Amino acid sequence: MNRYRLPLMYIARQWRLLSGILLITAVYSAVAALEPWPMKLLIDHGLKGQPLPRQLATALDALSIPRTPLGLISVSGAASLALFAVGGGLSLALMWLWAVAGQRMVFDLSTDLFQRLQRLSFGYHARHPVGDSLCRLSGDTWCVYNLSSRLFSPFEQILMLATVGTVAWRLNPRLAIFALAAAPALAASSVYFGRRLKARAKLGREAHSRLASFVHQCLACIPVVQAFTTEKRNAQQYKQLSADAVELSQRASLVGGLYGIVNGLVSTAGTAAILYAGGQQVIAGKLSVGSLIVFLAYVRKMQYATETLLKTYGSVKPVEASIERVMEVLEIGEHEVCDSRDARPLPPRAAGQGVSIRFEDVTFGYQPGRATLKQITLEAQPGETVALVGPTGAGKSTLVSLIPRFYDVWSGRVCVDGVDVRSLKVASLRAQIAMVLQDPFLFAISVADNIAYGRPHATRAEIIAAAEAANADAFIRQLPEGYDTVLTERGQTLSGGERQRLAMARALLKDAPALLLDEPTSALDTITEASVLEALDRLRMNRTTFIIAHRLSTIRRADRIVVLDEGSILETGSHVELVARSGLYQRLDALQFGDVLRAGVA
Ligand code: ATP
Repeated sequence: MNRYRLPLMYIARQWRLLSGILLITAVYSAVAALEPWPMKLLIDHGLKGQPLPRQLATALDALSIPRTPLGLISVSGAASLALFAVGGGLSLALMWLWAVAGQRMVFDLSTDLFQRLQRLSFGYHARHPVGDSLCRLSGDTWCVYNLSSRLFSPFEQILMLATVGTVAWRLNPRLAIFALAAAPALAASSVYFGRRLKARAKLGREAHSRLASFVHQCLACIPVVQAFTTEKRNAQQYKQLSADAVELSQRASLVGGLYGIVNGLVSTAGTAAILYAGGQQVIAGKLSVGSLIVFLAYVRKMQYATETLLKTYGSVKPVEASIERVMEVLEIGEHEVCDSRDARPLPPRAAGQGVSIRFEDVTFGYQPGRATLKQITLEAQPGETVALVGPTGAGKSTLVSLIPRFYDVWSGRVCVDGVDVRSLKVASLRAQIAMVLQDPFLFAISVADNIAYGRPHATRAEIIAAAEAANADAFIRQLPEGYDTVLTERGQTLSGGERQRLAMARALLKDAPALLLDEPTSALDTITEASVLEALDRLRMNRTTFIIAHRLSTIRRADRIVVLDEGSILETGSHVELVARSGLYQRLDALQFGDVLRAGVA
């Protein structure tokens, strides 16, 4: 039952609509119980001339309807029509209420799921492809609606069974018992097939998620796909993945179909038994033909209600698969980056005031047993610029990503202003940090909105000032609609250098006391780099900055340069100090500035 706690919460929020549904369902059951009676009126009284019950005769007299066969046939037709109209109106109202309640439940759940997905750590997103998250968000969230309708169905069926069962019992107790005799067999098949249906449904959802992830991956990397002409191979893989999904769906349909056949067989056997027993009673004159017809209609309703009631178990099982997939995301928390119970906010800094950032004996890795950073101890004073250099894969980006707490350290501490980042509110910590990531992610919104992403209320003048500082103003003004040009997804119509400058403008506008720059100028030409560096120099003043660069020209002016290799700090010092040593930095410097001879000597 615990697994239903969360979806039930979303269902319960719609209690007003659900109460309306319950009320209408009760009226609907009463109308359904009346449905076969016009037929009895027609056969027993209209055609066979049996005397009318006293109340009905009085009612017809009061309405001045003749009690002739033709009059009774007309009444029977009109009553059928009226019952159909009322029943139809009620079922329309039920459909509408279910649609509204269902949509609201799904929207509530998917909003929370989206919120959670956005907050989950990089680690989670590295393990789960985007396509899988999309499937959970757009498909699995329907589990609340499916669950509510399946859980509500028993109420509906119990009401129907109670209403129709009472009338049927009064009509003929022996036949009523016959009608319910099929229930145990239906229950057994429901339990048997229910388990199998759930397992199939889970496999099916996973196969669809794999397919969606593959499609997302191919479409997101379309330039690579076309450059390496992998279209054919991808098409084959798509075929294979969709064949797997189809096969699983087929198997699920087969199990569902078998379930339907077994239930149908049991119900039909029950109806046949009633036909036989009821027919005998009609021949013996103990039951009228009209009553038998009413009874048969009731039997169908009772069997349908019993079957649906028992099917609830089987039909809830496949929904559980989706519930589990949604809960997997919503219930992550303990093991992922999140605010601790006693987390406190990092107080905002006054403009131009930096923060101190300290790594104390930090060890961290992505995979258990494989440390990417080993016992790093490093401090940046407020306003200081620390540059990180080292071979590719040395752990530079990883080190920087620990400051905004994208990951939690294995051991040691990362402190901002002397406070362990794990005891700070994550949002308040990240609010004090501006970043330019290695991959300058841009959104499919206007250029101005992209720059103002971290400060949505910035004025146009502030946006332009940030763009000018990042040397982006000139190219933005050349775009078809300048700052209002809407970019394509990830800004793919811009060059790498243009994207990088927009990302830089975005970071500059955030005006945070800590600045983390991961290869901010890697895609710029030397002249543009020089002017961006100049802007950066202005910006770095009084801000604590970590800057990663392979191009040493970018970091020469840093207060301190830290050389990392294989997750450990090799050397620390200013450019002049490090060049004077015969270490890795000197070799990198020599190679980059073409002093091959000096590198060879070193
Ligand atoms: P570069 O200069 O190429 O950007 P780097 O010094 O910034 O390299 P990192 O990106 O920090 O290096 O990577 C350090 C190591 O961690 C590499 O071996 C990399 O493969 C691994 N790594 C990075 N991100 C992940 C991840 N999300 N999951 C698993 N391993 C990762």
